[in-house]
Order: sequence, then structure tokens, then C-alpha cells
Amino acid sequence: MARFAQVAVALPIDRTFHYSIPDNLAEEIKIGKRVFVSFQNRAVVGYVVGLSDESDVKDVKPLVSMIDKEPVLSEEMLKLTKWVKDNYCCSWGEAIAAVIPAGIKKGREAIGSRLKASEPPAETFPRSTPHDLMEEQSRALKSVTGSVDKHEYRTFLLHGITASGKTEVYMQAIEHVLRSGRQAIVLVPEISLTPQTIERFSSRFGGHVAVIHSRLTPAKKFLEWKRIKDGKANIVVGARSAVFAPVKNLGLIIIDEEHETSYKQDDVPRYHARDVAEERARLNSCPLILGTATPSCEAYHKALSGEYKLIKLTKRIDERLLPKAKIVDMRMELATRKRITIFSKVFLDAVANTLKAGKQAIIFLNRRGFSTFVNCKKCGYVVKCKRCDTVLVYHFETKKLLCHYCNYTANAPDICPSCKSDYIKYLGLGTEKVESEISHSFPHAKIARMDSDTTEKRGSHDRILGQFKTGGVNLLVGTQMIAKGLDFPEVTLVGVVSADVSLNIPDFRASERTFNLLTQVGGRAGRGEDGGEVIIQTYTPGHYAILCAAKHDYEKFYHEEIIARKELQYPPFINLTKVTVRARNDALAAKVAGELKQAIARQAPSMLISGPAPAPILRMRGYYRYNIILKNKDRPAICELLKKVLGAFRKPYGVLIAVDVDPVSM
Ligand code: ADP
Ligand code: ZN
Ligand code: ZN
Repeated sequence: MARFAQVAVALPIDRTFHYSIPDNLAEEIKIGKRVFVSFQNRAVVGYVVGLSDESDVKDVKPLVSMIDKEPVLSEEMLKLTKWVKDNYCCSWGEAIAAVIPAGIKKGREAIGSRLKASEPPAETFPRSTPHDLMEEQSRALKSVTGSVDKHEYRTFLLHGITASGKTEVYMQAIEHVLRSGRQAIVLVPEISLTPQTIERFSSRFGGHVAVIHSRLTPAKKFLEWKRIKDGKANIVVGARSAVFAPVKNLGLIIIDEEHETSYKQDDVPRYHARDVAEERARLNSCPLILGTATPSCEAYHKALSGEYKLIKLTKRIDERLLPKAKIVDMRMELATRKRITIFSKVFLDAVANTLKAGKQAIIFLNRRGFSTFVNCKKCGYVVKCKRCDTVLVYHFETKKLLCHYCNYTANAPDICPSCKSDYIKYLGLGTEKVESEISHSFPHAKIARMDSDTTEKRGSHDRILGQFKTGGVNLLVGTQMIAKGLDFPEVTLVGVVSADVSLNIPDFRASERTFNLLTQVGGRAGRGEDGGEVIIQTYTPGHYAILCAAKHDYEKFYHEEIIARKELQYPPFINLTKVTVRARNDALAAKVAGELKQAIARQAPSMLISGPAPAPILRMRGYYRYNIILKNKDRPAICELLKKVLGAFRKPYGVLIAVDVDPVSM
């Protein structure tokens, strides 16, 4: 019988600790159970990750008590969480804490027994039956089920335009997995975890479906977790954290809308669900499907190199053509109308026609409210960093332009460096302004706005969409919230107020985001009988992200984009790691960031390191933040290096340091 338990605690300390096992616990101790241990004179929850007869230190304290009757972590989860700690620079305990539902974390097993009695009856949905697949769909299904049958790890990139029948392929692949006695996990972005999505899976699979999302109360989350653990649910549909669902016999993982940035967790552990899913599929020798209409450059690059198997769905089920977008060159508006306007004539005419026909329009502007970029309204010139090819951001305090990657500064120009005109403007347009301008132009139209300001209250999201659905609203103005998933047949016009907003965010993924957003928002038009029209206003009509989105040409976009990524050494050619130093005092944060960079450089002289540079939002919640960006190929090596450097680094009181491997925003 083992004498010592190896215990991980949910604190940012990258090591485990040995505790001796008292006689009264010797029978029940098991790997994967939680225990109370005394740690720095406090009782904390620990996770038993190993048992041994030896201890690494002489003076070993005994375990205080046992929390669980049954292990809450399987061997598989221990391996997976260890992988997370080694790849995302956190401690094992922090990684474990992320996979156990909050309702049970504090050691309140009691919740479980209390709730068990009130387990709800399986909801009854009208059953849907599988469609006979189209040829492309059948081929896709066959590839996947082949790997399921062979118990083979493989990642498939299912690149299919919207409404090409991806979800139908997912569902039939799941059926196949269930028939073989195994289970499946389906990840969807939080924003698409709508009643419609859940209903689609429930009506096909009935009570076998468990749903996990962030709006569940901790108690409900725990209930679903327990149902999955007890084998009562065979299919898990959920947001990113569902990648850790405790299914016993995993046969398939599906990630819908693979390119979505919401698959990245922005708190410790800062994992990317796509990469965790890949590791989990590998551990279980089962396939992983990544589905999307607009693959991330990372995924497509792997597909082209043969690491993933690429499957294409090129036809829409209803054979309806996607509407081609009309690009409006706003520089011409300035030239012909001699003033700067938000809406072009083409745009206003289209809205007027839509209203006259009794149809609806979606008016889109993805204004992220933080930075302002400098843009010439005559020639479209945008001031960029010479070293990074990212947009320079105007800082009101200093009246200077600044690169958020390398800290390059420049004076804000009064005349355009390119065409010498004085139409240099600081762009700062938002949805609120759009709403007020559009109501001036169309005083009789019923207008609603949907963005994070108008949907703060619970239920307001559903209320606005409900009004739009029933025709109580003619024009819906909004941010990316309205870009996805909405299916309203009466919408015949989609107008993009400015494609330049997302193009000019200071991030190397700006072009990719723009292409994705334009493709998605454009897909909202013409879903009914009457067809549709998409209008994109821009000052940079020649940009490949805009041209390719207007023509639905993903391949062309990818080939342009990948050239830039390679030249500037960005993902997928390298992994980025962002180290953020923050403090309430600006100078202190900057100073410590500088010291930390030196410490990293001393430890790894050949590493590509840029910064420290101020974060795009320098001051957040009272903290000034500086980023150091490391470029490297090997995630575990970076984590090991940083754990070593940070372990020895003396940071002053009040300074916080965070590490984000593969960040999705800068
Ligand atoms: P995607 O996930 O690619 O957007 P879906 O799977 O949602 O596409 O399919 C779009 C629509 O077509 C859905 O209403 C779906 O039920 C229907 N559909 C899918 N496959 C078929 C098929 N083989 N035959 C008929 N209808 C289908
Ligand atoms: Zn720069
Ligand atoms: Zn100019």
C-alpha cells in the first residue's frame, strides 16, 4: 500500500507536493480524488495525481481529509490536464480546476446528492430523421466513419460554405459513433449556443444530449457533468469548456466554426479548445472534425500540408447562390459629393428600396471602442508601422501615433504622406452614431440596435431579435453580434458601413477577421425567396480581404494572407506567446516589463523577442499593461523557459505578470 500521495493544488505553483497517507484513509485513497491538505497553514483542496512509497522531502505532513467517495478525475483527464499545464504555462492544479465544474470545486459533494433526486425528465422534442446525404456529404461522412471504425486519431478540416450541410454530416457521424457504443463531444461558439442549435441535436438524439454553457447555474452545470460521468448522456454539446466533459469512451470530437476566437480561454488556464481537442482525440485514438466556412489560417495551413485531412462541401443544399457583394469606394463619395459622409448614395438608395418593398435590412459596423486610427479620406492611406505592418494607433494623451507591437512612435501627420491632401481623419465611428444618422435619413423606419451596450440586460438579446423576427423592426443596426447564425428570410439587404474598422485593428489577424466577418454578415442576406444584396463600404476597396469576401473566394484570400504571415513570421509559421506585465503605476509596469524582457533574453539569447510595448488598451481596470511577445515554434519549451525565468524573477509588490500562449488578441 502506498505511503504518500502526490498532490496538485490550484495555485500558480508549478510543482506537486507529497503528503503522507494516514491509516484511516489508506483504504479509500485513489488517484483522481480530491483531498484537503494543509498548505502554508491553510486548508486547501488538493488533487491526488499520484501515489508512491517514496517522498521527495523528509518532513512530510499528513493529508487532512478525503473529499470524494469516487475519483472526480480519470486517468485520461490527468494526462490531458498535464498536457494543458505543459503547453499553456500554468500549474497542474490550475489546469485541473478548469475541468471540474464549479459546483463541486469547493468540495461540496452534498450538492450532488441533493440535486440527484430532482433530475429533470428528458425533454421531449419532435424527432427529426436523418436526410439522405448529397454526394459531397456522403464522401465526408465516409472518411470520418472510417477513422471511427479503425479507432484512429485523425483531424478532418470540413470546409463547407454556409448551408452546405455540415451539421447534417456531424449528426450522422455521431449516430455512427453511438452505434459503436461510444460517445461524442460537439463544441460550438458560446454565441451560437442558442435554443435552435440545442433543439437540432435534441430532436435528433433526444435525452442522450447533455448541454454545457456559461449561462447554466453551477448546480445545473454539475448535474450535466454528473449525467455525462455516469454515462447517462452520450452526446455533449457545449462551449469551449465542454472539451473536458468526462465522457468515458470518446469516439468523436466536433468543433463547429473552428475559426472562432471564443475557443480561446482568456483566464488561467489560457488554453485553446481546438488544440486541447486535438490532444484529447489523440489520447483516445478517435477522429476530430473541424467545421467552418472560413477556416483559420492555422487550420488551413495544416490541411494543405497534409497534417489534417481536408474535406470540402462546395454546394449549398438549396442550391441558392450566395449573393455577390457590391463594394462601394468611399473615396469616390468624397470626390463627387465633396463631403465626408457615413453612408454612400448607393447605400442610402438600397435602404430606401428595401423599406419601400416592405423588407428588412441589417446594417453592420464592427466598431471596437478602443483605438482610433489615422486614415486619409481622399486616397485611403492608413499610417502603419514600418517594422510590423500593423496600424499605428493614435493616443490622445500624447498626440502621437504608436505601434502596439514594437513601440515605434511617430508624429500624427497633418497632410497625407501619400497624396498630400489634408483630408487626414481620425476614425472613431460607432454603431450608436450609425443608428442616429440612419434615423435622420429614414425618420419613419423602425430601427433597433444590437451591440454589447444594448444587450447588457438579461433577455434583451432575445427581445431585440424577437422584434426583428416578427417585423416590428425594419432596420437592425449592430456589431458582430448580428453577423452570425441569424436566419431571417425577410432580410434582403446587408449593408456594411465600414469594412475598414476590423481591417485596421492593431493585430496581425486583422485581415483574417475582416474576411470572416464580411463573409458571415454577407451570408445573412437573401436567405428567403427574394434573394438579397450586400453592400460593403470601404476606403480600401483594393484590399484582398474585402475583394475575396465579396466574391466568396476563400482560397484566394488564404493564399494572399499566408504570404504576409510568412514574411513577417507570424502564426501558422511560428507560435506567439504574450507576456503581460501590469501595475497601477504606469512607470513601474514599464520598468518591470523591461527588466523581465532582459531576464528572458539572458536565459534564451537566440529567442525572437519584441516589446515591451503598451497593450492596445494600455490602461484596463486601473492597471497599466505592457506586452512582451515571444516567437517560438515549441510551446512546451517556451513554457519551461518562462516558468524558470518567472520562478527566479523578483517582481515588486503590486506588479502582476500573466502568460498567454497563442493569444488571439494582442
Ligand atoms: P451547415 O451546417 O453547413 O450550415 P446544415 O447542415 O445546417 O448546413 O444544412 C442546411 C439545411 O439543409 C438544414 O435545414 C438541413 O436540415 C438541410 N439539409 C442538410 N443536408 C441535407 C440533405 N442531404 N438533404 C436535404 N436537406 C438537407
Ligand atoms: Zn511596430
Ligand atoms: Zn491621401
